[in-house]
Amino acid sequence: MTVKQFQAESKRLLDLMVNSIYTHKEIFLRELISNASDAIDKIYYKALSDDSLNFNKENYYIKVVPDKPNRILKISDTGIGMTKDELEENLGVIAKSGSFAFKKENEIKDGFDIIGQFGVGFYSAFMVSDTVTVISRALGHDGAYKWESKGAEGYTIEPCEKDSVGTDIILKIKENTDDENYDEYLEEYRLKSIIKKYSDFIRYPIKMEVHET
Ligand code: ADP
Ligand code: MG
Repeated sequence: MTVKQFQAESKRLLDLMVNSIYTHKEIFLRELISNASDAIDKIYYKALSDDSLNFNKENYYIKVVPDKPNRILKISDTGIGMTKDELEENLGVIAKSGSFAFKKENEIKDGFDIIGQFGVGFYSAFMVSDTVTVISRALGHDGAYKWESKGAEGYTIEPCEKDSVGTDIILKIKENTDDENYDEYLEEYRLKSIIKKYSDFIRYPIKMEVHET
């Protein structure tokens, strides 16, 4: 499979994320939950003007699933999803990130406060993950696609299976180092407290499901 290259700017931000010494890495979860919520909003607003779509509140939620033995954290939503082209455009091109608009070239190197203030969006997942996999099926499409990246070297996209519309963000959580504890992002109580701290205002239910084995 061919590995596609990120745009130069994306690559720089990704490098910053992967090698981040930023102390509040926990904000990655805020960013991913906010994207999930935005994706559900998009269906909600579409349904307001499209009679063929009816927005049944109980079908729309965000799910956070830690799988400690496998070091996987999955954030799923039943939002609008992304087509293959949208995966490319939205995740491969940094300018797409609204928050990044605040960041000018020369601010990237001392951009740590910007991470806290505005967030850097999706790429913050790389602060805590070795590999980020996005499985998405767009509203109105039967097929699904898998986007995957280990960081600045590039990403791959291939067709895959997904039963329902929405997006799964699958993080392979980094191993602990001497300076940094990543295990905590696989702990139910810790994840709950991060969600409470940053995502309490989210309008859709955030469910947690724990894999014991
Ligand atoms: P921002 O949210 O500021 O636009 P992000 O870097 O957080 O920037 O996300 C980039 C884009 O990727 C979003 O604008 C959206 O189009 C797309 N995206 C990210 N996560 C999801 C998701 N869970 N469902 C649908 N689209 C998503
Ligand atoms: Mg975002």
